[in-house]
Amino acid sequence: MPILDCSVNTCVHYADNCCCRREILVEGTHAHSENETCCGNFDERREGCCENSAKEACMQLAVGCEAINCVYNENRKCNAEHIGISGSNAKIADQTMCASFRAR
Ligand code: SF4
Repeated sequence: MPILDCSVNTCVHYADNCCCRREILVEGTHAHSENETCCGNFDERREGCCENSAKEACMQLAVGCEAINCVYNENRKCNAEHIGISGSNAKIADQTMCASFRAR
């Protein structure tokens, strides 16, 4: 399972430069560059939205991935040791991306 580094600080699942989910799905079936990928679990944190106070960052998590043109994609799972999801201040999922995407 990859170690995740996430900078999407506007996401409801964001915690300490990481994510509090146990798994995420990266989208981008036809991606040929990192810009064409995005985190499918992005959900914008809105004011007044109920926060989980016991939110704990999960440093290592299962990463499903539809970006089959990436060298790290193995049967729609990510086998990289470390990945970075970027998109600080994102408002929608398309403003996030897997910065670790490497085209085959
Ligand atoms: S590094 Fe590649 S396989 Fe892993 S999540 Fe990012 S795009 Fe998917």
